[in-house]
Amino acid sequence: MAGVQTAVQLRAQGWSGPVRLIGAEPHQPYDRPPLSKAVLLGQAESSAFDVDFDDLGIELELGRDVTGLRPEEHLLDTESGPVPYDRLVIATGAEPLTLPGSEGVPGVHLLRTLDDAARLRPVLAGRQSVVVVGAGWIGAEFATAARESGCAVTVVEAAEGPLPGALPAEVTAPMRAWYEQSGAELRTGVAVASVEEGGVLLTDGSRLPADAVVVGIGSRPATRWLEGSGVALDEHGAVLADAHLRASVPDVYAVGDCASFPSARYGRRLLVHHWDNALQGPQAVAANLLAEGYADGTPEARVYDPVPYFWSEQFGRFVQYAGHHLPGDELVRRGDPEGAAWAVCWLREERLTAVLAVGRPRDLAQARKLMQQGTPVERDRLADVSTSLKKAAR
Ligand SMILES: Cc1cc2nc3c(=O)[nH]c(=O)nc-3n(C[C@H](O)[C@H](O)[C@H](O)COP(=O)(O)OP(=O)(O)OC[C@H]3O[C@@H](n4cnc5c(N)ncnc54)[C@H](O)[C@@H]3O)c2cc1C
Repeated sequence: MAGVQTAVQLRAQGWSGPVRLIGAEPHQPYDRPPLSKAVLLGQAESSAFDVDFDDLGIELELGRDVTGLRPEEHLLDTESGPVPYDRLVIATGAEPLTLPGSEGVPGVHLLRTLDDAARLRPVLAGRQSVVVVGAGWIGAEFATAARESGCAVTVVEAAEGPLPGALPAEVTAPMRAWYEQSGAELRTGVAVASVEEGGVLLTDGSRLPADAVVVGIGSRPATRWLEGSGVALDEHGAVLADAHLRASVPDVYAVGDCASFPSARYGRRLLVHHWDNALQGPQAVAANLLAEGYADGTPEARVYDPVPYFWSEQFGRFVQYAGHHLPGDELVRRGDPEGAAWAVCWLREERLTAVLAVGRPRDLAQARKLMQQGTPVERDRLADVSTSLKKAAR
């Protein structure tokens, strides 16, 4: 996504020189969100981007794994020889975390690529029994599709509730019922000790038999190939980009799931593993690549400091989140979390820092605008679900 968007943005913003887009996967570049939704369910064959690379003069090199980077020589290493560059944009995304000992075990799946989704489709079509490891975004979306297909589904989550890394327990508590209502069993507070063919063994000693095991326990930046290159990585393994999305070595940028960047807005470095970041970041990268070419400094280099946004479709609900809340932010509820549509806002010093909207896309859009503009808000009006959220602006 971020690689394609960077190439497309370079053309849209006026770059007429050569652009090469290199990717390890053999498939035409594609969008990932449908992999845990329509593609998984067999409702769509592909989610390839509707981009005419030939027409845009973008040279596409698919099935080519990049193995190293030599910044001083302006060279990339690949199995089929080195590739020279003037400017490089690293957009290698993320790779799913695996459970130790589970690799190569028959019936154990990850869900990141089109090939992963293709391997999982027969599991759904055959209504096989499934254990999902992890009640995060991927686990919830996979469980949704699997239940829709009629599979028996058990989700095992080591934390005490769903989405533990992303949201506080008091916010996710009502989501437990979503699993139950869909007919999926959610087992929390217990971890998977080992995975074997035909099921998983839990740390409480119980064994869950399953035809298939789907591991959705998070992802890490796909940057191992940068080892020894001199490109600085952060503690998560993400390329440590600056506010212009430049890496620590000359003429190299990084964007999307593989890069973290400093956010003045939130006073910390952010590593965002969501689609919108892979859409917006490339606009800044392309602008900055082009700005470099102007000796007088115009057009101006662009600082990347977004209000992060993502969505998830799970258990018949449209879940959206924008912003970035921090411990200590005041939590304000809009509507009944047991109901079909509700939202939660986070406040700091009379400004919104984040919003979670379930079935309330208008709240999300309005809150996002207030956050982008840094508008002070009235707490009590925010909590009044009968008035539109934008009316909370002071
Ligand atoms: C199943 C699924 C569902 C999702 N659903 C949502 C959603 O509903 N909402 C949302 O906001 N986000 C969603 N996301 C997240 C979103 O898709 C990602 O944030 C987005 O794809 C990131 O784009 P990217 O370009 O940084 O990385 P990627 O899309 O992962 O692209 C990176 C590419 O680089 C290639 N690559 C990696 N290493 C090398 C190498 N050494 N050499 C050559 N090529 C390499 C990879 O093969 C890959 O094709 C979902 C993700 C998945 C996996």
